[in-house]
Amino acid sequence: MNCDHTAQIDIRKLPKEARPLPDVIHFQGERILTTWTDMHFGGRRQWFLCPSCDRRCAVIYRIGGGPLWGCRICMDGRYASEHKSPQDRRFQKAFKIRKRLGQTEKNLLLPFPDRPRHMHRRTYDRIRAEAKALELEIGLRGLACIQRCSVEEIEEKLAEGKLHEVRVID
Ligand SMILES: [Zn+2]
Repeated sequence: MNCDHTAQIDIRKLPKEARPLPDVIHFQGERILTTWTDMHFGGRRQWFLCPSCDRRCAVIYRIGGGPLWGCRICMDGRYASEHKSPQDRRFQKAFKIRKRLGQTEKNLLLPFPDRPRHMHRRTYDRIRAEAKALELEIGLRGLACIQRCSVEEIEEKLAEGKLHEVRVID
């Protein structure tokens, strides 16, 4: 999802004249609260309180109905319930293929299902190849997401046999 296309206010990027914001802002018919935290080396930092979940946040986004504004997490939640991400769609597709082959559990870590008796070998091989490619892509994208790097970088490491260098970082 691309936040750049969504109306947003970054409290750090407000013009000097607008800072600090009052504790309560009335904005487009909505009441938005702000709060302060102390910084390590002195000084204080102002934050928005998300109108939807009360989390502290530097940026609020226009998320539409209900509370009009919300933090990134609230916006992603809203978005996720309306649109599935491409990775979600890949998972759904991969589960669907396995289901067609008789797997009932939604788990891609289970061994790939054997060929159902009624299915031609050629059909099975084609489905299996498609599923394997899809599941590899899901895995690569998952790794890239954890590593915060591109899928290409993960593929490079994989090709060089250096995937053990890929550390899972939190
Ligand atoms: Zn929120």
